[in-house]
Amino acid sequence: MRVRNMDIKWISEGGEGMTLHRKYDLLYLSVKAFDNLEWLANGFSTRFGGVSRGYFSSMNLDLHCGDDPENVRENYGRIASAIGFPLTSMVFSKQTHTANVRRVGRKDCGAGFFRANHLSDVDGLITNEPGVTLVIFTADCTPLYFVDPEHHAVGLSHSGWRGTAAKIGRATIEAMQREFGSDPSKMLAAIGPSICRNCYEVGEEVAKQFPNCYATPKGGDKYLLDLMGANQGVIADAGVPMKNISMPNLCTCCNPDLFYSHRAGGKKRGEMAAFLGIRGEDW
Ligand SMILES: [Zn+2]
Repeated sequence: MRVRNMDIKWISEGGEGMTLHRKYDLLYLSVKAFDNLEWLANGFSTRFGGVSRGYFSSMNLDLHCGDDPENVRENYGRIASAIGFPLTSMVFSKQTHTANVRRVGRKDCGAGFFRANHLSDVDGLITNEPGVTLVIFTADCTPLYFVDPEHHAVGLSHSGWRGTAAKIGRATIEAMQREFGSDPSKMLAAIGPSICRNCYEVGEEVAKQFPNCYATPKGGDKYLLDLMGANQGVIADAGVPMKNISMPNLCTCCNPDLFYSHRAGGKKRGEMAAFLGIRGEDW
């Protein structure tokens, strides 16, 4: 896929809290508030810069969706080199829309990529070990990034409506408090590109699990759910100051040329990935 100038202009205008990076035809975003923290590697992929074809085109990062695994591995090689972390540092989990958070370290590196994944039913990962890159997949769901600059610890979570209702954002912050002594009032958080409130229609059963301010009646028993806002609320309630929470306002569903979207593409789609790592000595 060729990058067009309009793509870049659009992302630059839409992504207030994010920085756009371009390496040839590869585009990825990083959290602006983390960019000056040199001990971190962080990013969020777009569809641009990979080798996958058809409706996986081109930077699909899901190894288990029917795409050619060799192409997906090549995509990982490209995005890892662009963001600046080694493939061997990655830790994946088997995400199942839970609010389960697991502390991981160097012993977990390679899980889900170079060897079997032992982290089942885990949707949030935390670490304070250099040389570890946390990885979360999304295609409309909300990626949540957490950084504790005081203790050099990080967290990354996958928060769809189930995870948001179960407050995985709070669970991740509390796990960092418990494991690393993190103080929420000093933490930085970011909400990555995900489905916007105009695109996310849900039924009453889902809507009633959220405070009214995040679920707008649309008529009948349909509601529009503000998943990004709801996550911002969860994170703020857990003690992170609003000014420390980045909101990019980039919708994955409004922009199917730039992002994979479950709502826009159904099962015929790839996945983006969010990356958050603590640099090792040789990165
Ligand atoms: Zn949208």
